[in-house]
Amino acid sequence: MEHATLVHPSAFCWNPSCTAYGQVAHGNIRRFGRTQAGTQPYQCRICGTTFVETIGTVFYGRHHAQATILECLALLAERNSLAAIHRVKGIKEETVMDWLRIAAAHVERIEALLLANVHLTRAQLDAMWTYVGHKGEKGGAWRRTSGAPSGAALR
Ligand SMILES: [Zn+2]
Repeated sequence: MEHATLVHPSAFCWNPSCTAYGQVAHGNIRRFGRTQAGTQPYQCRICGTTFVETIGTVFYGRHHAQATILECLALLAERNSLAAIHRVKGIKEETVMDWLRIAAAHVERIEALLLANVHLTRAQLDAMWTYVGHKGEKGGAWRRTSGAPSGAALR
């Protein structure tokens, strides 16, 4: 199976409160020094948030490619059932639910990845979260469980 190439993490801003959140080719990201470990940090010119290129490795170590995982989450967001995804993609329902649970623990990163790579709308993202029982939280509190202040660097 062919896998789509994912947009590089340095191609968009990861800060959900930024106007350029998940927007690719906005010209807002610049290189920002270098860490001691040699990873390349980036900064958004609009909100000032810095992040490293490893920020997008949410599904690191999974058997399936991240592109496949995002594709399945996007199918859920487009209101396909788990059974339909199994038919179309050949991936077990439990596996997709497993990914969704991981996604729910990294909401802001997953949404940034989906916005940048699959071009979902807010309504579609919300539809996806209903599968893991986040519906009815009124788009708020549960997304801030990390306790990080808005605009803080995501690592
Ligand atoms: Zn930004």
